[in-house]
Amino acid sequence: MNAFAFTRADSVAGALRAAGGDAKFVAGGTTLVDLMKLGVENPTTVIDISRMPLAGVSRMPDNGLQIGALARNADVAHHPDVVNGYPVLSQALLAGASAQLRNMATTGGNLLQRTRCVAFRDTAMACNKRSPGSGCAAIGGFNRNLAILGTSDRCIASHPSDQNVALTALEATVQISGPKGERSVPIGDFYLLPGDTPERETVLEPGELVTSVTVPPPAPGAKSAYLKLRDRASYEFALASAAVVAIVRGGTIERVRIAMGGIGTKPWRNLEAEAALHGKPATAEQFAKAAQIVLSDAKPQSQNGFKVELAKRCLIAALTTVTQGA
Ligand code: SF4
Repeated sequence: MNAFAFTRADSVAGALRAAGGDAKFVAGGTTLVDLMKLGVENPTTVIDISRMPLAGVSRMPDNGLQIGALARNADVAHHPDVVNGYPVLSQALLAGASAQLRNMATTGGNLLQRTRCVAFRDTAMACNKRSPGSGCAAIGGFNRNLAILGTSDRCIASHPSDQNVALTALEATVQISGPKGERSVPIGDFYLLPGDTPERETVLEPGELVTSVTVPPPAPGAKSAYLKLRDRASYEFALASAAVVAIVRGGTIERVRIAMGGIGTKPWRNLEAEAALHGKPATAEQFAKAAQIVLSDAKPQSQNGFKVELAKRCLIAALTTVTQGA
């Protein structure tokens, strides 16, 4: 690990003043410290923001929920308002990492979680995301865990988070503070596709800081669930996952939101698939049609073709779970 300066900020204003150059904010440290040890991240200044007052989870005037960027994953997962109003988020958080990591990892850090692509984390291998223009060792190399949707010929890294898949299905909004003031970005616009610039993963500008994420009030009658398929039952990243929020009345789907993880370069939402389900009976046949739409643009790599069928089955199972008995 390279030498770096360390400083603390107790307020958002203080954190923004300290930011600049290649400084990095650290809170739980569950991603950044790992990447610094590997030599993937080499900030000259690390700004500890863990003492800022942004760890709360609170109701908003519209009955939605505001989750502070420093709220720990475990605290959010077990918060009564999350468990009761947004079970998909609670389930997604508890499906991620290990208990120890969930006790440290924060909402903001999870939003910015980096890919688990092996070549990204190995500085001996070519990686356009880590070192733009160096190539991509995963294309034609080890790519079993990587993306089949949203890829480019520069990068095929899959987005690793569970939380962010649930937040996408919940149509969350990310609150950001920066040198130019505050702004809010719908989570669907927060993540960037790799295209020619895989090193840019979000719309965050230099010096900007995520301060909270908000979710709209639960729609009356909505049910939700998160299903994660992986190589082992715990402490593993998704090969395919599905977050579903749906309202079904009299066997008919009134409203549905779907996001998928493990298969896309960002949390993957497909509006066409959702539209195809609206007003339709909640049946296996309709679910299969929606799954086909989501995966119709899939571009499997040499080792991850199995994800196409796996993802379809994952989505069908999640839709079935949510709509059963509704
Ligand atoms: Fe790097 Fe992306 Fe290629 Fe992985 S898939 S080696 S992150 S460029």
